[in-house]
Amino acid sequence: MSNAIPPGITYVNDRFLEASEATVSIFDRGFLFADAIYEVSSVLEGGLVDNPAHLARLQRSLGEVDLPLPLAPEKITGLQRELIERNRLHEGLVYLQITRGPANRDFAFPSSPQPTLVMFVQHKKIVDNPAAKSGISIITSPDLRWARCDIKSVSLLAASMAKQAALDAGADDTWMVENDRITEGSSNNAWIVGSEGNLITRHLGSEILPGITRSVVLRLAQEEGLEVEERAFTVAEAKSAAEAFSTSAASFVVPVVRIDDRVIGDGKPGPLTREIRKRYIKSAMESARSDIDEARSNSQESR
Ligand code: PMP
Repeated sequence: MSNAIPPGITYVNDRFLEASEATVSIFDRGFLFADAIYEVSSVLEGGLVDNPAHLARLQRSLGEVDLPLPLAPEKITGLQRELIERNRLHEGLVYLQITRGPANRDFAFPSSPQPTLVMFVQHKKIVDNPAAKSGISIITSPDLRWARCDIKSVSLLAASMAKQAALDAGADDTWMVENDRITEGSSNNAWIVGSEGNLITRHLGSEILPGITRSVVLRLAQEEGLEVEERAFTVAEAKSAAEAFSTSAASFVVPVVRIDDRVIGDGKPGPLTREIRKRYIKSAMESARSDIDEARSNSQESR
């Protein structure tokens, strides 16, 4: 990915601004304390995917750190849609972040915070992604993050270090490990397929983010009659799995074909993983279309 900040329209506290003009204060608590919550929703054909679930998780994360939602969820959805339109975003991501805002530096929360809300988009081919065809290699390394990984906070340095360690080792990503059990990927949930075609992904708890893609894949798998186990699994179990994959809004379902020094299956994306990716893309497309329909009916009502 290029490091240059791409041009485009961003949203900063009530205003749509060119990316080059989009700035926040050095006193913002998001900058000084990582005192901020974020969300990333994907966009297909100009429509938001699984967005109500992302906004529900946003509200939950904010609640856990006692940060009020600065705008009603319907207003946020309206702004996300406007940003998509202003950027002519066909496929990619909408990033949204709420911080506790600027305040005199103090560990205690300010008594009357003025939250910062920023949004921007990233153009990205999610469906037609080479990694989905070839699969990716991952390494495993100790999970160095904090004890509330269920909160989607912007405190992402440990995850960023884990991702960089993978790239430095010639791999694509890291699955993080606690007590010899996989927690999750640097920015995705981790899944393996057992010898009976059973799906295994870690149970929810404070060790992982409750992925929205994870929850949709769980539902789709259950609808297909697949056996699903939500439980912790060891590194050894992952290395001897029939298949492995990761899930996230940014990449959907990505096959994992190598874990550390072990090739998974025959080194190619497994059949069940490919089927699940196909099913998820279909569901995501339906979700995006219903978002567009809802936006249209809202704009007709307001005329
Ligand atoms: N775990 C972590 C640590 C993540 O950062 C992400 C992506 N934000 C996920 C899991 C996947 O969540 P989602 O499917 O909602 O994108």
